[in-house]
Amino acid sequence: GVVVPGVIDAEHGTVGAENLEWVGTPVLAELQAAVRATGSDDVPIVLAHDVRAGGYAELRHGALAGTTNSMFLPLGTGIAAAMVVDGSLVSGDGYAGELGHSKFIYGDAAELCACGQWGCLETVASAAALARRYTARTGRTVDGAREVMELLAAGDEDAAAVWQVALTALIDALVLYTTLVAPTRIAIGGGLIGAGETLLQPLREGVHARITFQREPEIVAAVLGDEAGCLGAARMAWDRADEEEKNV
Ligand SMILES: [Zn+2]
Repeated sequence: GVVVPGVIDAEHGTVGAENLEWVGTPVLAELQAAVRATGSDDVPIVLAHDVRAGGYAELRHGALAGTTNSMFLPLGTGIAAAMVVDGSLVSGDGYAGELGHSKFIYGDAAELCACGQWGCLETVASAAALARRYTARTGRTVDGAREVMELLAAGDEDAAAVWQVALTALIDALVLYTTLVAPTRIAIGGGLIGAGETLLQPLREGVHARITFQREPEIVAAVLGDEAGCLGAARMAWDRADEEEKNV
């Protein structure tokens, strides 16, 4: 089981990932060649999306266990969603779940995203964006989102300003997702979940205040941490092997 970010063409095993500057990169073929080079040519490889695999692990063993409608949303270098709808992990032929590349920032405040669109959620609410936006605003280099969170806790007004923009966009995104597919639980992960209740509590309050008729989701922390993607890759490969054994 191997996981990568980006859009995975499951049929051809190619990957497009703007953050890695991959365009139609033949990842599956290269993995197969590498495995063949070791002399073992019939080892099947499962190539999956890192966030969907993380969601799969959270669904099987973590914060989403027991749900049939839910979402895993890691806020890391980028933002993508693993969407569980009516018991299935939605892949959309490899294209689904790109909530991070939906527009939530308008007008002059919209920044150009790595994906080519303007005002994406990812440009303000990823862990990388928090650090970048703090530096752009103050001219001060920071050691990632963690330092911005420390500054926020210490009462720094610039940290509070970039944090507020991130929260507002995230609440908009969670309300949109809730309205469309009615999750009972949303598990937030990635680097930013290190902020814990400082992140979760305003998201819960913001979503609660906004919704009217929608079913209110529980908003919780993901539990598998940095290893969610790796665990999901292993679980997916394991389950695929089980399935193939059954079909023999
Ligand atoms: Zn984008």
